[in-house]
Amino acid sequence: MRVCIIGAGVVGVTSAYLLARAGHEIVLLDECGEPAAQSSHANGGQLSYSYVAPLAGPGVLADVPGWLLRRDSPLRLRYRWDPRLWRWMAGFLAACRASVARASTAQMLTLSYLSRDTLQAILADQPLDFGLAHSGKLIVYRDPAKLRKAAALAAYQAGHGSEQRILSRDEAIAVEPALAGMGERIAGAVHTASEDTGDCRRFTQELFRRVQAMAGVDARLDTRVEALVRESGRIVAARTAGGEVRADAFVVAAGLGSRALLERLGERLPLYGLKGYSLSVPIEDNHFVPRISVTDYERRIVYARLDGVLRIAAMVDIGSEDTHLDTQRLDTLRRQVAEAFPRLDLSRAQAWAGLRPATPTGKPLIGRSRAAANLWLNAGHGALGFTLACGSAALLVALMEGRNPPIDPKPFAPE
Ligand SMILES: Cc1cc2nc3c(=O)[nH]c(=O)nc-3n(C[C@H](O)[C@H](O)[C@H](O)COP(=O)(O)OP(=O)(O)OC[C@H]3O[C@@H](n4cnc5c(N)ncnc54)[C@H](O)[C@@H]3O)c2cc1C
Repeated sequence: MRVCIIGAGVVGVTSAYLLARAGHEIVLLDECGEPAAQSSHANGGQLSYSYVAPLAGPGVLADVPGWLLRRDSPLRLRYRWDPRLWRWMAGFLAACRASVARASTAQMLTLSYLSRDTLQAILADQPLDFGLAHSGKLIVYRDPAKLRKAAALAAYQAGHGSEQRILSRDEAIAVEPALAGMGERIAGAVHTASEDTGDCRRFTQELFRRVQAMAGVDARLDTRVEALVRESGRIVAARTAGGEVRADAFVVAAGLGSRALLERLGERLPLYGLKGYSLSVPIEDNHFVPRISVTDYERRIVYARLDGVLRIAAMVDIGSEDTHLDTQRLDTLRRQVAEAFPRLDLSRAQAWAGLRPATPTGKPLIGRSRAAANLWLNAGHGALGFTLACGSAALLVALMEGRNPPIDPKPFAPE
């Protein structure tokens, strides 16, 4: 089958790799000059297989006033007259019901574990150098009540195969001595030894190069798909400035850009771009930099060591669908990082902003689109695209080939 894939972010490139590996002819198109130029560019680097609980959860309603009022809140909601935003918010609030959030967490765990296995299989086949570290993850809590809630969630997740330990402050500092700077402010932590980190951009670009070299692959950068051409209920071509690309099947893996492509076909995808920031800090003195992946829970800041760089990612700004570097938000982030790790030198930190292509439930859309019989979606991975990319691609390929899917596909079906 000749498959045209739109988007060379982490999701599109993993999809292209597994489809090419299965013997299909591939045309991979991206509007940017390099792969992973948008959301996959400088994200938090977390392969967070056990932390897939959606942002929408029962505790969120109590947090909303803080998001609206506090300038340094990790989540910020900006009022805008944008029907798309309000539709998304309505879906988000509906997804906050405890029963929905629990079901989503269990469903996301099936996809994240599939992702971990698929990544291992890919690496066995194609060793890739992207700073993969089996570092384990420490989620640090300041508020004892929040730590107790986390312990309850860990107990729930244990029933779905995840192994986590609750640590006291001293135990947490023994596991990660760089936390000593936070001292008394730590109530405790949850340690998950099985979590990994890596550089998403390097992973995507390395895999892209392998895909490019495979037989039957035509990868074109700087190629924007303006529209998908539909005839008699099937997509026949992707229209670009350089002409039409014809194929038997089409996969839209264009991150947030998927929304506009599908809108033109009359399908409204429940996607909204949740803005976040990252800082990349060159590591000079190993002493004061966390060795393992750390999450400062109340501030929603993640820290990952990616070879010579400490990647710090944070903040969810809802209603700011742009990648402008907001100096006030970045100053807040720098201040909070300096407070937690006072000996870290932030003077050479490189700032980045990206949009998480998020659905209200946090679950990606994987499967056949309603807009055409040969049109497939792999989009909407929100805050977890790096973590979920390999599993999503494996699920997509099984569905496209009409094989028994490796996990239940219904929770991710676009309809
Ligand atoms: C601050 C921040 C931190 C994050 N941290 C993590 C983390 O620690 N772990 C994790 O798992 N995830 C994390 N994420 C989420 C993750 O980065 C995303 O979910 C993931 O990158 C989405 O990948 P994608 O391939 O779907 O989208 P993208 O990477 O945006 O790729 C889509 C591609 O489609 C192309 N495109 C769009 N429209 C068109 C068109 N019309 N024609 C041609 N090409 C088109 C774009 O150029 C782009 O290259 C984070 C995100 C942010 C913003």
